[in-house]
Amino acid sequence: MPAYEYHCDDCNATFTVIASISEKEKGLQVVCRICGSTNVRQLYSGISMGGKKKDLPVIGGGCSCEGAC
Ligand SMILES: [Zn+2]
Repeated sequence: MPAYEYHCDDCNATFTVIASISEKEKGLQVVCRICGSTNVRQLYSGISMGGKKKDLPVIGGGCSCEGAC
C-alpha cells in the first residue's frame, strides 16, 4: 500500500499514513498522530496530483501567440 506523508499545522509533526488508493479516493480522514488534530495537509506522494492538467492554455484561433494577436 502506498504511504502518504502528512504535516500537522497544529503541532508541526510530520507523520506517514498508509492507506490504499481506494481509501484515499473515498476521502481519507487523516488525523494527527501526535495531537489528534485534523488540521493536516499532505506533503507529497509518489502519485501525481489528481485532477486535470491546467498548465496548457487553450486559446481559440489555432495560433500560439497566447491571445496577443
Ligand atoms: Zn498535531
